[in-house]
Amino acid sequence: MDLKILPLENLKPRIEDETKLDFGKQFTDRMFVMNYRTGQGWHDARIQPYQSFSLDPAAMVLHYAQEIFEGLKAFRRPDGQIALFRPLDNFRRFNHGARRMCMPEIDEAFMLQSLKELIRLDADWVPRAEGTSLYIRPAMIASEPMLGVRPADEYLCYIIACPVGAYYKGGLAPVKIWISDHYVRAAHGGTGEVKTGGNYAASLFAAREAASKGYDQVLWLDAKDKKYVEEVGSMNICFLYDGKLVTSPLKGTILDGITRRSVLTLAREMGLTVEERAMTIEEIFAGAESGRMTEAFGTGTAVVISPVGQFTYQDRTVKLGDGQTTGEVTQKLYDTLSGIQYGRLPDTHGWVELL
Ligand SMILES: *Cc1c(COP(=O)(O)O)cnc(C)c1O
Repeated sequence: MDLKILPLENLKPRIEDETKLDFGKQFTDRMFVMNYRTGQGWHDARIQPYQSFSLDPAAMVLHYAQEIFEGLKAFRRPDGQIALFRPLDNFRRFNHGARRMCMPEIDEAFMLQSLKELIRLDADWVPRAEGTSLYIRPAMIASEPMLGVRPADEYLCYIIACPVGAYYKGGLAPVKIWISDHYVRAAHGGTGEVKTGGNYAASLFAAREAASKGYDQVLWLDAKDKKYVEEVGSMNICFLYDGKLVTSPLKGTILDGITRRSVLTLAREMGLTVEERAMTIEEIFAGAESGRMTEAFGTGTAVVISPVGQFTYQDRTVKLGDGQTTGEVTQKLYDTLSGIQYGRLPDTHGWVELL
């Protein structure tokens, strides 16, 4: 398939202060878009000015949420070059989601090539200030106007991007986690392992409740026994327990995070034993009180690593250390992973894709 580059008439105002970027509000000049129709396949791939879509009010995505998305980043390196982090992993996961949601698959290599072209054209938008990056959002939506419940026959696939600020200004800051004993995120057989909009819509209520009580994130337990740890907000979670790195297994209810995957590799290389098994709430409380559990952190593209300072479940709260200090292993994993992303450390795994 050809990729057309459409002319750009107006440039948006440039960013004035890279240290004051709000997440996900300001987008680059261009976007990638392509269309799909059953019988015709993907067509009209183009890089065009960033602009609104015209969607029929009956577009199926608006009613039945047939939608998937991805999240990855481009990093500005000290020599000015731009690097993507494991982008093909994102497009593979996108296709995995497409199959589950009865949507058409995309050509992973073509998407990567189109993404690189988009970032090359909008390279000026990749910020330079310490800790900043360009957040990239591929998405696919069912655009066919039809009110029946069935897989659509028309889709839009697109990529937009926004410069984002340093998540941590002044070092990693441990967060307070609220463990929900009532709301669940995903059940076995559901769509928990897919980045599909409905999962996130369904999580808002619990997240708002946690925020109103003063917590930063919700920790989701399994839907069946409400006892086993799944993930935190939109992050995977890892614990340092008896000196081993413990994280929930991939059994269909949690996202197969690329940051999680990378952290597990780095942890093994640091000599840590990795256990993929679900921790229980009891283990969290007993482990933190006895000192067997020394650190915990969330992993995800937006934050890389988010240390956990305390857990609250019903009327019990437990702190890790003083609740405000980032653990040694957490800090080391953060420094290593972000070092590879920004090119301060060598990429020995082939994770970095230069433009
Ligand atoms: C995106 C996401 C993650 C993290 O995945 P990464 O590939 O590391 O960014 C974890 N959990 C949920 C629910 C997510 O949506």
